[in-house]
Parts: sequence; structure tokens; C-alpha cells
Amino acid sequence: MARRRTPPRPESSSGAGAARERKSFELRGVPASPGVAIGRAFLLDSEEISIPKQAVPAAAIPQEIARFEEALAQTRKEIEGIQSKISKELGLEHAEIFNAHLMFLEDRVFIEEVIGHLKEQQVNVEHVFSEVLSKYVLAFSKVEDEYMRDRASDVEDVGRRILRNLTGLKRRSLADLSQPVVVVAYDLSPSDTATMHRQHVIGFITDIGGRTSHTAIMAKSLEIPAVVGLEGATQRIYPDDQLIVDGASGKVIVNPDADALKHYEGLKRKLETLDRELLQVKDLPAETPDGVRVHLLANIEFPEEIPSVIAHGAEGIGLYRTEFFYLNRSDLPTEEEQFEAYRHVAKAMAPHPVIIRTIDLGGDKFMSELKVPREMNPFLGWRAIRFCLARPDIFKVQLRAILRASVFGKFRMMYPMISGLEELVAANKILEEMKEELRREGKQFDPEMEVGAMIEVPSAALILDLLAKHVKFFSIGTNDLIQYSLAVDRVNEKIAYLYEPAHPAILRLIRQIIQVAHENNLWVGMCGEMAGEPALALLLLGMGLDSFSMSPANVPKIKQVIRSVPTFKAKEVVKEAFRLSTGREVESYARARLCELIPELCES
Ligand code: PEP
Ligand code: MG
Repeated sequence: MARRRTPPRPESSSGAGAARERKSFELRGVPASPGVAIGRAFLLDSEEISIPKQAVPAAAIPQEIARFEEALAQTRKEIEGIQSKISKELGLEHAEIFNAHLMFLEDRVFIEEVIGHLKEQQVNVEHVFSEVLSKYVLAFSKVEDEYMRDRASDVEDVGRRILRNLTGLKRRSLADLSQPVVVVAYDLSPSDTATMHRQHVIGFITDIGGRTSHTAIMAKSLEIPAVVGLEGATQRIYPDDQLIVDGASGKVIVNPDADALKHYEGLKRKLETLDRELLQVKDLPAETPDGVRVHLLANIEFPEEIPSVIAHGAEGIGLYRTEFFYLNRSDLPTEEEQFEAYRHVAKAMAPHPVIIRTIDLGGDKFMSELKVPREMNPFLGWRAIRFCLARPDIFKVQLRAILRASVFGKFRMMYPMISGLEELVAANKILEEMKEELRREGKQFDPEMEVGAMIEVPSAALILDLLAKHVKFFSIGTNDLIQYSLAVDRVNEKIAYLYEPAHPAILRLIRQIIQVAHENNLWVGMCGEMAGEPALALLLLGMGLDSFSMSPANVPKIKQVIRSVPTFKAKEVVKEAFRLSTGREVESYARARLCELIPELCES
């Protein structure tokens, strides 16, 4: 996601900020990446660059053009440098975000327009460039297509780079930081995030963004505590304010008093010690004291997360979100490209299982190449399996790549957002066609690869017995199941208080899913965020869930829950929880029991 401009402050931050009393206050946002960060605020500037207008004699125009071409070349070099850095540190997929920037630098229409105006107006190139740039940004921001609208920020981002190179002005860069800071920004662009150094950026907070924004995803993979969706943070926080970022709860304390500081310093130390201690059990099995073995797996978006999966002791991958392969690029990934990536994942994890999910495009994740019309309710719209069945050309390419990669490890495959039987049958039919095609071509695949369905739509949960005949397993996607069951948009921070995983309706649905799956001799896992919450995992254990999948950093905590609580105890907790009437009651009860059973997990 590209950076948008910070709105002006109510008062100037220079001078007034220094004189003002540093008041203590709290902000609440959307938890994006767990952990505690304590440090000084570093506000990313709004980057207003002032451009003077100067007349240029006709004879000097070629010189202006040369300056322009040089600034373009310099910008290209900078972007390629960032790209190669990200590619090395985070992988090719992240680096491809910058292809759009590079394409803009080569846009001859744009370049010719600048040169044309330059010759006509005979003024300095900075001025002409910034005028043409504004026109383009405005045009992009008015386009209906959401992806194209987002390109306005890309154009603005790259345009600013060119302007800085033209004017020789340097921007405060995250790469130049020498002290550990907490970054405060309206939003963060990929270049901002990419230049973050974990040693210096100890945490970050942004005014906008949801839990599934690119910024949040990056924060988790970098393991930097972060809170997003903190409306007005950049307006209320001043440079050098002291900040406490509690990435697990979404709380940010500005200029904390001595007590808060002491509390969070203690908590930070405890969390660090706990993380170290928890890692000691990383190679032990996920088995309860009374001998019930469950599977503890991790979720990934990019193959580069595999070292973290292994380091945290997961026994495989329970959800590989392959749609990230399709985002931030202007073309569709080929079969070969996907095959290479999937093969790498299969091999790197072997002999552990990898549950690869077929693309879940749509909702909040779309690529412009697909020219999808804007929808009123994208989460209820043309998404996931619905999209794949409507675009078998795209679906088939992915299925072939998955099948071919399946011989290099232990792959299982699942479809997202199944809402009815026909969808599942139709998807399986296409899969069989692809197997037949590969057989004809003499290409290898694992004929035993198990196929499952994600249960994330209430209608699927209620017809599980009918779906059961067509799959080998189920995986509960609570991120969506909760939003669809409780009618709460999962990325809308205004109604986040209604998003309750412990709501009695959700617990009843989950209990029913597990029961019916088991009656049909199928195993059932969960790959929604709920599985990575210790107090809720206690309930899931008591309900008989077979497999838990979560972001890698949560794995040790959940292993601790499993290894500490005998199943009969977890069942007792479930029994009591089902007597309660609200999500809040259930959550606080489960938490209290967790704290009683495993006090060391209850420090925050
Ligand atoms: C879910 O919905 O719980 C899930 C795991 O899928 P995603 O978060 O990718 O929608
Ligand atoms: Mg989902």
C-alpha cells in the first residue's frame, strides 16, 4: 500500500511542539503485530516540497530536459536499489511492488508531456513536472477501479522521488536513522517499510489501515510491534514524544507516566523472557499431558516466511495464502513461476505437510490486470472460489502448478469460501480434469494429495455433512466465519468491538463443525487468527479441534497451552463457557481459567 499525504496539523509542529506541555494520553487502534515497543516518536514528514517557478530562456531548455532525464535515471537507480534490497531480505514478491514505480518512469506519454510543456511555457522543469504530476495523480484518484485509484499513491510516491532528485532536496529517510524510534505515519508506503531497519525501527503506528493491510503483513513478518487504524495519531503525536506501543492489544500510550512506563518495561522484559522460554519446547510434540496429539501449524503468505515457521517449532504449514503471489503486479503469474515457488515451499517443509490454499482473490485483494468491476459489498461478492470458478483459465493454471509441485513434499490443498455443495463439486471436477491433462502430458503429481474445504461461510458450516463426502478435511477460517456470522466487516475499525470470536454463536458453530466432521471421520483444523489466541485455543482444545494453524510467532504460546492442559480440564472449561451468554463473558472466563492453568501466559 502506498503512502498518502499526512493531513496538516492543527498547529505547527516546530516551536509550538517544543514549548507545549507533554501530556499523557492513550490511543486505541487495530492490533497489527504483537509485542511491546517503548521509544521516541519519529514522525515521517508530510513531504511538502516547495517548487519555485522560474523563467528559463529558450537556449537553456535542452539543459532542463537533460536535468529531467538525469533525475529519471537517478530515480530508477534508487528504486532498483530498494528492489534488490527487498528481494534479498524479504523475497521477490515484496520487491515486485516496485514494478509499477519503474513502469511509470518509462511512461513516454508522461515524459513527452513534461517536455512539451517545458518547451511551451519556458519555465523550470521542476515546476512543469510538478504540474503534470498533480494532473496525473488527480486523474488516477478519480478512476472507479479501486486498484487503479491506489496507483495514484504510487504515482505520487515516485513523483516525489523525481522531484527530490530534481531539486536536490533530501527527505528524512528511515534508512538514515541512527537511534531506535517508533515511526508514526499516516500510512506507510512499501519503500518506507522496506527501508526500515529492525534495529532502529522498534515499532510503528499508522493513522489508517486494517489488520490485513500490506503494512500489517510486513510488520508481522519483520516481527515489529505495530498498531494501525489509529485515527488522528499523526495529528496528536509530536516528534520525540515518548510512546508505548502495545501491539497485542492495539493500545498506544503517549508520554506515559512513571507507573505506565514501569509496567510496560516490566511487561516487555517478561514477554522477551517468555518468548525465549517458550522456544525451549519448540522441538517437543504438541501433545496434552493426557496424551492427546494435535497438529500445530503456521500460516504463511510468502515462501520467505519458512525459516520463521521452522524457528518457532511449527510442524508444517496450515495455510499458504497463495493469492499474495498475484498481488502488487501487473501480470498474472505463469504456471512455471507458481510451480517453482510451490515446489520450493514443499521441499523446504518436507516431510512436514503444507496446506496450500487456492487463490482467495477478491474482497480486499484484487489485481488490476483482472479488470474486476467495483462492488458494493466486495466481501460478499466475486471472491475466492466464486472467482476461480468463473475464471477457470486462471484457476487451471494454479491447479496444474500445485499438482506438479505436490511430488516434492507433502501437499494438501483446500478451497476458500465454499458456500454450497455445487461449488465444491465443480472445483473438484476441474481438479480431476487437470490431473487427467497432466497424465496425458506425462507430468508427475501426487494422486493421493488430500483436498479439503475451508469453512468460513455459515451456510457451509450448516451443511458440513453434505460437503464431507467430497473432501478429506476441513479448515475453519474464523476471520471470515466471524465476519459473515456476526455481520461485522473484518477490516472496519469502527465496528471492531462487535468482532467477537468468543461470541456464543461462534462457539456453537465451531462445536457443530467439529462434531459433524468427526461423525464423518474427517479431521478438522482452524487457520483463522482465533487458533493463535491462547485463551480461545484452550476452548478449541476442549472442543476437540485436531489442528491449529496461526502466524509463526504465536506457535510457541499455543504449544505451551496444549502441553500444559489435559483435555478433560479443557472440556470442563468448554462446558462452563457454554453456560455463558455473551462473548465478553466467555472471553473473560476463558482468560481467567488460562491464567489459573498457565500463569506465565497471562502477563499482558
Ligand atoms: C480466515 O478467513 O479465517 C482465513 C484464514 O482466511 P483469510 O484470513 O485469508 O481470509
Ligand atoms: Mg478467509
